[in-house]
Formats: sequence, structure tokens, C-alpha cells
Amino acid sequence: MTETIFPMYPPVDTLNLALNSREPLMTGDVITYRERESTLLAPWAMFSHQSQGRKTEEQDQSYRSPFQRDRDRVLHSSAYRRLSDKTQVFTGISDYHRTRLTHTIEVASIARTIGRSLQLNEDLVEALAHLHDIGHPPFGHAGEDVLAECMEDVGRFSHNHFCLILVEHLETRSSDYAGLNLTHEVLESQHTRIDKSQADRLLPLLETQVVEAADSITYDAHDTDDAVKLGLVSIEQLMELPIVRRCVSRIEAPLDQLTPRVFRKMIARELIDVQVSSVLSYIAPLLQAKNPKSAEAARRCGIVVGTSPELKAEKSELERFLYHEVYRHPDIMIFRSKVQEQLRTLYEGYTKRPELLPEKLQAKIDDWGIQRAAGYYLATMTDSYCNREYEQHFGGTSGG
Ligand code: MG
Repeated sequence: MTETIFPMYPPVDTLNLALNSREPLMTGDVITYRERESTLLAPWAMFSHQSQGRKTEEQDQSYRSPFQRDRDRVLHSSAYRRLSDKTQVFTGISDYHRTRLTHTIEVASIARTIGRSLQLNEDLVEALAHLHDIGHPPFGHAGEDVLAECMEDVGRFSHNHFCLILVEHLETRSSDYAGLNLTHEVLESQHTRIDKSQADRLLPLLETQVVEAADSITYDAHDTDDAVKLGLVSIEQLMELPIVRRCVSRIEAPLDQLTPRVFRKMIARELIDVQVSSVLSYIAPLLQAKNPKSAEAARRCGIVVGTSPELKAEKSELERFLYHEVYRHPDIMIFRSKVQEQLRTLYEGYTKRPELLPEKLQAKIDDWGIQRAAGYYLATMTDSYCNREYEQHFGGTSGG
């Protein structure tokens, strides 16, 4: 396998010099985030000290940047913990699959790898990655689609929008403010995910774009892996796809000596590596050439983070395959219609019996109306809690 060398900013020698020039840390002499970022980040990164701050002002911490604090607030939130019992794609047909939480952790890991290599603000990347799916309702896209239908008259439902409802209204961490009081940059990043048209005027921060790219790299790889493991598609079918053949050609071990299990895992591993390498080898030279002098300049220089155009076509082919053969697989579709029926019943039940909503959401009915309060309550639920509510209050046999 050939190793790709990516251009660095500043040059590696300068970077090593800067890191080594500092005296060893003594007790009480803790490196500040400003020092750390001034040494490690490129000019196009979003520096923490340039943040536009929080709605409610808070005391700065020299050792932990505002974006590290945002990451920690997300990690400690109830909504984040609930991801461990929320569907990614596969539920109801096996207990072996990625959950919304393991998906999120994989996204954060891949996003940090890309962010670090492009010398972006890793702390911001990590905060955004951990945040990116916390607005998902139970039962994955099946849940999101049916909630959008139910809430048609009150602005529909999207997990990206609900993420903001969670972090600005429903989560609690202080008596001083509602929500998590996240930084402007993290909230704005979430707004750009809702309003894609904004991209026509000003692209999202590079850190935001890296998380979007990592999300897509991650689900393409793990959905392929899970789908083969669960027997929904075969490796022979995958071998029809150019991107999979490209991955297999990178495996140095003799293929006839690999067990199917190891072969599947090696394909999944290569699917990540081939995509991450493509992003880096495509984007790093563009950044070098355009050399934006600030995060704001980077948003205006036209660089869109993603795989190279050549790989993009192969990746799209894989995504079309996953859509038709996996996401629309008969086993998944049976489960989908069952849980959607369950969610419809719950939604209608809650709108008629608001007393079933927890106090926190009952208190919002005056502002939001019962439809949004009921829909948002459903969206907070884990798959298991949703099943229990269905069985307890509506006497049904749950779909999940
Ligand atoms: Mg995701």
C-alpha cells in the first residue's frame, strides 16, 4: 500500500521546533488553549479565542477551550446518552448493528482524523460530531419520516431542527439559562445543516464541513459492513461496485486465505481509509493553493470538503446500492411500517391525552401547542422507552 504524504501548515520542522521550544510543564504551569491552538492550527481553522461567545456570558477557562466545553456539555447531556438505544439503520432484525451512539463515536473519530490532518480546530470538530445526531427520534429515519408527516401542520419535523430545540430549550445544566448555552459557532453550524440554501452565500466553517464529510464516510462504511454481516447483501454483490473493487485491490493479504468474516472487516476498513485519504489528498492541496488567512476567508474561498470527484462518482454508486438493496430491503421495510404505525398511534394518543406528557413538556404546550409538544416528546424517546409507552398506555404490541 502506498503512503500518501499530505502538505502541512506550518512545515513539519517549524511545528516540531515550536512544540520543543517550550520548557517542560512544571506544576501550576498549564499550557493554555490559546498557546496550544497558536502552535497547532492553520490560519484557516476556527480559533477558539475568535469565537463569538455564548448567549449567556461565562467565565473563560484557560486550560479548556470554549469548544472543548461544548463537547463536554454534549457528552454529559441526557439526549446524548439516549443515543445508545436509538436505531441507526438496523433494529428489530438482529442485535448486531451500529446504534446511533456507536455511529456518532465513529463519526467523531473519523472527523478528528481529518480535522487534525488539515490542522483545523479538533475540539470544534469533536463537539460538532458528538452533537450531529442527538436530534434523532427513535427508530431512525422511519421515525423521522412519520413524525414529519404527523407534524405537517406545525412546520413538520427534522432531526437537525430538533437538535436545536434540545440544546436550547429541553436540556438542563444550570439555573442561569435554558439549554446548554453552547457557543455561537456550534449553534450556527447546526443552523447551516437546516438551511442548506445558506451555502449559496457563505459555506459552513471547514470544521462543520469535515463533520458532514465524516458522517457520510462513516455510514457508507458501517452500513456496508452491517448489511453483509446481517446477510442482507453478499460480498459478491458488493464486488460489482467499483469502490469495493478499489478497496479489495488495496488488500495485500492473499484473498483466498481470508475467512469471509475477516474479508468483510478488511473491506469496511479500506472503505474508510480510501475515503479519508481521498478527502485529504483532494482538500489539502486546495487549502495550500488558496491559503485562506482566516476561518472566515476559508468560508468564502469556495472549498467544499469532500472526496475527490473521481471517488465521488464511485461513492454515489455505493450509496445508490445501499439505498435500494439495504435501506429498502424487505426485512427493513416490514419493521419500518410496524414502528411507523406505533409512532402514529402514540402521537395521536398524546395529542388527545396531554396529561400523559411529562411535566416539562406539558409546561411548553402554551408556547408550542400540543402537536409540537407531543411530537417533541416522542422524539426524545429511546426505542425501548417508546415500546414501553406504547404497551403501557395504548395496549399495543410494540414494533421494536
Ligand atoms: Mg450521522
